[in-house]
Amino acid sequence: MATELVLLRTAGAPMPVAGRAGISSALIVDDRVFIVDCGRGSPSAFVDAGLDFRRLEAVLVTHLHADHTGDLPGMLIYPWGVRLGGDGPLPPIRVYGPARPTELPSGDANFHRQTTIHPELPDPGATDLVNNILAAYAYHLNVMPLDAAMPDAGVLVQATDIHAPRLAEGGGQLPVVVFEDRAVRVSAVAVMHGHAVPALAYRFDTGDGAVVFSGDTTVNEDLIALAQGADILLHSVADLHYLEQHGFTGPALERMAGLHTDVTQVGAVAERARVAELILTHYLPAEPDAITEAEWTERARQGFSGITTAGRDGLRRRLPAG
Ligand SMILES: [Zn+2]
Repeated sequence: MATELVLLRTAGAPMPVAGRAGISSALIVDDRVFIVDCGRGSPSAFVDAGLDFRRLEAVLVTHLHADHTGDLPGMLIYPWGVRLGGDGPLPPIRVYGPARPTELPSGDANFHRQTTIHPELPDPGATDLVNNILAAYAYHLNVMPLDAAMPDAGVLVQATDIHAPRLAEGGGQLPVVVFEDRAVRVSAVAVMHGHAVPALAYRFDTGDGAVVFSGDTTVNEDLIALAQGADILLHSVADLHYLEQHGFTGPALERMAGLHTDVTQVGAVAERARVAELILTHYLPAEPDAITEAEWTERARQGFSGITTAGRDGLRRRLPAG
């Protein structure tokens, strides 16, 4: 038995680029599969990695931007037909993600938005998202079983909202325990990703070690605390200097800096978290030929005494290490 991390896809931002697809990772604990984020191409990446949809137990989304949720419908609905065991339908795929924010982010001074989409609920949370996916695909879910033997669609998925952690007395967040059983414990803190509130980072602890998923964040003290001593920190990175040279200047660059950790900052994050290995993912720019893996690694490892690895689609790590 072991724990294995698979980087399914490693691109940052919603815009499709050639050669690298959207953000998604898998953590396999014994024969159970957990997915963190469902970016572009993640259901195909799931099978490319040799994973079995009958083993898919839960999907955790770090935040509700489309590059992290765009292929959630596919992750749930494409494999519907195999969600069947000897005793009937398999247990629902559990989906965890941020709850509705308590209020809409204020201010529209930058973009002078004209339209609020779905004003009756402009900021749906994770369970709203799943309910809306089921509603949107009701035709398929109600009609396909008339022509093919399918498991009961009513037990396909079960969603749970994660509320922002409470603060400890001296400041700092008390991580939320998302779920816990004999083999795996998942905890979360809120991180800082522009107006995407809440955005979450997740830590998985198993008998083989600990893996932390940063989600999208700026340098964040609560993430550093969450990741203390982990075997692997999978961290999103942006190259703000590259973005500056390619059209992001002034306020646009400041906004990017309020969303992401620059590649020159991530080594210090890993060092302060005292993790064994830092693996880079969710690249901005996402184009593989914009910045080589060697360049990403060289810039990210500054200030970090552990192992730095440039993640790529399909990269695997097994725990315990060695
Ligand atoms: Zn993202």
